[in-house]
Amino acid sequence: MSNSAGTEMVDLLVIGAGPTGLACAIEAQRAGFSTLLVDKGCLCNSLFHYPANMVFFTTPELLEIGDMPFSSPNQKPNRSEALEYYRKVADHYRLDIRQYENVERVTGSEGDFTVHTTDRFGRALEHHARRLVVATGYYDLPNYLGIPGEDLNKVRHYYDEPHPFYGLDVLVIGGKNSAAIAALDLWRHGAHVTLVHRGPEMHRHVKYWILPDINNRIKNGEIKAYFNSTVAHISEDEVALSTPEGPKTLKNHFVFALTGYHPDFTFIEQLGIKLDEGNDRRPICDPVTLESNVPGIYLAGVIVAGERTNEIFIENGRFHGQAIANALLAKRSERALT
Ligand SMILES: Cc1cc2nc3c(=O)[nH]c(=O)nc-3n(C[C@H](O)[C@H](O)[C@H](O)COP(=O)(O)OP(=O)(O)OC[C@H]3O[C@@H](n4cnc5c(N)ncnc54)[C@H](O)[C@@H]3O)c2cc1C
Repeated sequence: MSNSAGTEMVDLLVIGAGPTGLACAIEAQRAGFSTLLVDKGCLCNSLFHYPANMVFFTTPELLEIGDMPFSSPNQKPNRSEALEYYRKVADHYRLDIRQYENVERVTGSEGDFTVHTTDRFGRALEHHARRLVVATGYYDLPNYLGIPGEDLNKVRHYYDEPHPFYGLDVLVIGGKNSAAIAALDLWRHGAHVTLVHRGPEMHRHVKYWILPDINNRIKNGEIKAYFNSTVAHISEDEVALSTPEGPKTLKNHFVFALTGYHPDFTFIEQLGIKLDEGNDRRPICDPVTLESNVPGIYLAGVIVAGERTNEIFIENGRFHGQAIANALLAKRSERALT
């Protein structure tokens, strides 16, 4: 891996070195194209920021890319195993990954794009590529609630580990997997947990092995839950809830607002890619080649699903690499014929 700016033209530059971005670079490289990956954080930056003790929902073989086996002694791998696996894959394929470079904007057109980045010291860099893949994921931008007090530093939109919250009053907002997992982990490590969810019960998408656990903790009163309820405001020492029984004020030290994340639609639009506003803001792209409405810019991974971030994950997004490599090969043979 290198960290210098490139003046050399590559066939394909991939923005985002998550599992999908890696798969795109690997498949393009295997098809004979030169590639470069650029990520604003580290390799698999989103996975790196997942909860420290997280266990994937998926069995290891469904996280594999580049036909490299992912072996784990566990039925489902944890975050460290996945990070190790993707490091090994990056090594094996000798991927050229520029880490800690944020892609700010892109100029040019198919055949001659310039990708403008800044490194972690704010220095401007440029890379040149014939074609681009955007595989920027969704984990960098939380869905804010827009309530007073959300900007207090006791409010978190990412859950990491339970120890700092031992013996404290913690409110978890949300009703899906992230909220259920965080609430259980916090409770098991000695926090006093209250969960608030706007729906009538935990969401039906909560994994079948997590649902009975959280529901039983709630039934036993070990985790206090307010359903059909919302948070009205957050202050230093309290949270105010709006519940079917009327307003409630609870003592509170920390809040985890785990209400989901969304792709950087502004960035996608800045590239000239249109969003289908009537269809969950899915970026416009050919469903087979994944080429967007901007010739030479392809989309990959979870961003293809727009706001429906639960439709594409590593299990299915990893195949976008092959689809894009096929499209690049088809373009190359069209050119050879004309
Ligand atoms: C807690 C949790 C558990 C999960 N468990 C599973 C599971 O078991 N199985 C499964 O299949 N999926 C799981 N998922 C979902 C899965 O992790 C994501 O769908 C997947 O990471 C998406 O891959 P991606 O490559 O599209 O995006 P990401 O992995 O998010 O990668 C995007 C990359 O783009 C980079 N980036 C963003 N903007 C820029 C920019 N402007 N310039 C440069 N780089 C940029 C980011 O730093 C990041 O590294 C889980 C998600 C969460 C939150």
